[in-house]
Amino acid sequence: MTVQTIAVLGAGIMGRGIAYASALGGYRTVLQDTSDGAIEQALAEITALLEKGAATGKVPEAEAVAARRRLATARTLEEAAREADLVIEAAPERLELKVAMFAALDRATRPAAVLASNTSALSISELAAATRRPQKVVGMHFFNPVHRMKLLEVVKGLETGDDTVATALMVGERMGKEGVVVRESPGFVTSRINAMIGNEAFYMLQEGVASARDIDKALKLGLNHPMGPFELVDLVGLDTRLSILRHLHRTL
Ligand code: NAD
Repeated sequence: MTVQTIAVLGAGIMGRGIAYASALGGYRTVLQDTSDGAIEQALAEITALLEKGAATGKVPEAEAVAARRRLATARTLEEAAREADLVIEAAPERLELKVAMFAALDRATRPAAVLASNTSALSISELAAATRRPQKVVGMHFFNPVHRMKLLEVVKGLETGDDTVATALMVGERMGKEGVVVRESPGFVTSRINAMIGNEAFYMLQEGVASARDIDKALKLGLNHPMGPFELVDLVGLDTRLSILRHLHRTL
């Protein structure tokens, strides 16, 4: 299907990054959040990122200006989703919140619209079950910071259609991301492996094996990880990591 307009729900760490990549990828982008403060901060950050890109020659000046023009904001889910061909939900990692949002999206969007979630670990099939179009529901798992990270994990729920997977991959490519397709499973590939590395690092710190700084240094210099596990969890947010771990504990 042809995607022209993308709604991004949640303007936090991930939503603002996804909106940036979407606008720069040529899509009309509507960024929505229930908090005015989050929207304001997101717009300021996206604008600064585009300006920096233009100043350093990473983004042609005309493209940066056009991307900013393609970006609009909305306060309600209904307003954001009305015109969307694709919705990417990036609200907090709470299943009941996301289920309610997907039920509302099913009512608020055109029947052909694809509904995606940026969830780190939750079940795409459970979100799809809140809608009457499970074949059009898919996971689009971006990475933090979105403007720098190349991967898009496309997660196929039990009933996700092949055309929906193809749409997610195609949109990701236009946003400059390389996709991998993952069958639904708790934590997909990345969050599950990452949780294991993170937990081992916490155990080692607790056991006094090494300091947090030295564990980070060891993984960076010895195993070529770009960041240590403690640096990474600080970037992700301890609240988000805790939600992921609780979910993996329940489901695996
Ligand atoms: P965040 O807390 O930075 O942002 C969430 C935003 O959602 C906030 O601005 C909040 O005001 C808004 N919000 C709350 N309720 C809402 C609602 N009903 N409608 C619209 N907006 C609402 O969280 P985040 O780190 O951006 O995470 C968002 C999602 O992305 C989560 O599912 C998380 O698991 C996933 N994720 C996070 C990371 C990461 O590194 N932080 C990486 C990949 C995926």
